[in-house]
Amino acid sequence: MTGHMTSDEFRRYGYQVVDWVASYWEEIEKYPVVPPVAAGDVAAALPGSAPERGEPFEALLSDLDRVVMPGTTHWQHPSFFGYFPTSTSGPSALADLVAAGLGTQGMLWSTSPACTEVETVVLDWLRQLIGLPERFSPAGSGGGVIQDTASSATLVATLAALHRASGGRWNTDGLTDRYAVYASAEAHSSVQKAARIVGLGDAAVRHVEVDPKTLALRPDRLRERIAVDRAAGVVPAIVVATVGTTSTTAIDPVPAIADVCAQQRIWLHVDAAYAGTAAICPELRFTHVGVERADSYCFNPHKWLLVGFDCDAFWVADRAELIRTLSVLPEYLRNAATESGAVIDYRDWQVPLGRRFRALKLWWVLRWYGIEGLREHVRRHVGLAQEFAGWVRADHRFEIVAPHPFALVCFRLRGRDGEPERGADDRNAELLRRLNETGALFLTHTKARDRYVLRMAIGTVTTERHHVEAAWQRIQAEATRLVS
Ligand code: PLP
Repeated sequence: MTGHMTSDEFRRYGYQVVDWVASYWEEIEKYPVVPPVAAGDVAAALPGSAPERGEPFEALLSDLDRVVMPGTTHWQHPSFFGYFPTSTSGPSALADLVAAGLGTQGMLWSTSPACTEVETVVLDWLRQLIGLPERFSPAGSGGGVIQDTASSATLVATLAALHRASGGRWNTDGLTDRYAVYASAEAHSSVQKAARIVGLGDAAVRHVEVDPKTLALRPDRLRERIAVDRAAGVVPAIVVATVGTTSTTAIDPVPAIADVCAQQRIWLHVDAAYAGTAAICPELRFTHVGVERADSYCFNPHKWLLVGFDCDAFWVADRAELIRTLSVLPEYLRNAATESGAVIDYRDWQVPLGRRFRALKLWWVLRWYGIEGLREHVRRHVGLAQEFAGWVRADHRFEIVAPHPFALVCFRLRGRDGEPERGADDRNAELLRRLNETGALFLTHTKARDRYVLRMAIGTVTTERHHVEAAWQRIQAEATRLVS
């Protein structure tokens, strides 16, 4: 039997693994951004059952190249322009290694005080960095916590909102009234998913109309929908405002939405999953006007702030309300520290009980880069995106379809005069297919105002100007082939 890995073996293989990752990052451009594999190819390279006897580590490592690499989409490739970025970095990866080595579980303060207290402090650093006010601080009535994803943040906010809207009866009696959830028609699908998970269902979600020009939620339509619901005996539970929508990075008018929520005592959650990172730059913080009046706010450092997946930073203005919503204290978790009331137990701030030491990677990233380094990272991408948008604008065959204040540019080939919309949609879809098929770059699409649109999201750590330039040249060349 192969026994436990000794410390010497761990050192030896650990160095090999670090070397492997470093080489991967150095050589990443040799891979096609998206692997040319079919469904089942990767699984077919694996045996049907686990090995009876332990295998040498060399076999594990070599299967990274044999099995994993041929089937990997390279999110860290400098020509990966799809979705939103999911970043990583040296300090983040090393912190994850340490967290794995420590193997702590920070469900309670007492199960790992450092896991809890580093998180509390580092999230407060981050709060200051993005300009959230004191009320979201543990020194005030609020506080921050790391969730795995923005979807979890929306779920937790929805639960707290239902607790508030029901006067606490949600916890004891469950769903006794009819409740509604409001978000723009452009909001992320996690709002709808949260409504399903809490038992409200799709029917409770009001997809509020957006301004056709900005694609931002219309507060007048929000008011109308709430009035209709109230008249029908439906209780408005939560409004989710988005700063930086997934499709086009549209920004909902948070101040006007906050007015509605304040007048009607409705929970306001701000989802800034992608764009929240931009707020570390003072000149991009205009996106945060009004968020000081929210009940909860989140963004994903794992998207654009150089922290590896997964790390969503979530703040509430009233931590007591959140804790009342989620706290269930069985005998086996009772301990003196909890009973003293002097500590935070993050199990009461999230859906799962257990939690790992995610704060370590956030802490190391903030310290390694410093505020200056992080701002430089964001500004570089925003600058590249603005330059890219300028190139698109200068080519009369293309049009920009939405404002692009961050590092996402949505664009498309224009339709021909008199051509049905479907024709232009098909041509844009074909353009995207041909581009991605090359393996040299990767973009994704969306629909904006019902039209097929290409999304160029710049945000990978290694993306340089020449990668963006090469992508644009390729887009132009494919467009020429397509329309000639
Ligand atoms: N909200 C917005 C605005 C997003 O853009 C995204 C993902 O892109 C999400 C939520 C979901 O993110 P996560 O994968 O962290 O749940």
